[in-house]
Amino acid sequence: MFNCPLQNILLAATLLLTAPTVIAQKIQEPKPMSAEWSMPYQPFRIAGNLYYVGTYDLACYLITTPAGNILINTGLAASAAQIKKNIQTLGFRFADIKILLTTQAHYDHMGAMAAIKTKTRAQLMVDKKEAAVLKDGGSSDYALGGKGSSYAPVKPDRLLSDGDTIRLGGMQLVMLHHPGHTRGSCSFLFTVKDDQQSYRVLIANLPTIVTEKPFSAITDYPEIAADYAYTFKTMQNIPFDIWLASHASQFKMHDKHAPGDAYNPAVFNDQQGYRNAISSLQKQYDEKMKQQPATQ
Ligand SMILES: [Zn+2]
Repeated sequence: MFNCPLQNILLAATLLLTAPTVIAQKIQEPKPMSAEWSMPYQPFRIAGNLYYVGTYDLACYLITTPAGNILINTGLAASAAQIKKNIQTLGFRFADIKILLTTQAHYDHMGAMAAIKTKTRAQLMVDKKEAAVLKDGGSSDYALGGKGSSYAPVKPDRLLSDGDTIRLGGMQLVMLHHPGHTRGSCSFLFTVKDDQQSYRVLIANLPTIVTEKPFSAITDYPEIAADYAYTFKTMQNIPFDIWLASHASQFKMHDKHAPGDAYNPAVFNDQQGYRNAISSLQKQYDEKMKQQPATQ
């Protein structure tokens, strides 16, 4: 064997070309901000055919219908088994999930999405502004990206625009585009019923600020400030009977419900709590808008 410089150059070039693909396929889930996030939590009926099936803090919701069920959010990659168990504990079948939704394309809500989609063959429907970041598993996210995939990439089956309706077995969910936290963050508005009454439910993706940088420094998302402003404006005027969020802590679930509590949808009404949550985030946004880019 003789050493051929050209062969070495070609080999080096091939390695350079293939290396980014290898890195892009490796999934590195960030360490969750708190161990509490993914602790097991006893599933329960929130109102009518709407159930909490998430972990202690990573909220996942199951909506049951005669034509199959809808799952909103999945928690971390390792939360898949917990969600399945929670669904079965409530007496439902994991395989009956027909539609998958997410409130935002971050790893703490998308971690198990690809795996659950493969197992159930459910249709994934997402805000169309989230489609690109889902394909690279969060790697192109303006705030948490740049370090490869933080969750398994997944291809949506349907792209949703603001106000679009998701229908299954008599249920109708309206998707509300609430961008800022991610480009395609969204909330869901729908009505559930029990023997007594019906409830208009808002699953709100609260516009929390992720980036440490001034908005003007986020060059790959130039409309970020305008998107947040739009979201704050539109979120103020949504009538609801019950509100929930992407994290249990965001709607103070553990102050309203303890494991084993009797069915009581009224505890999730909390109009004042919603107004407080939005107005405190609006203050953070106003402060953020005063932040100047660092001068070199
Ligand atoms: Zn997030």
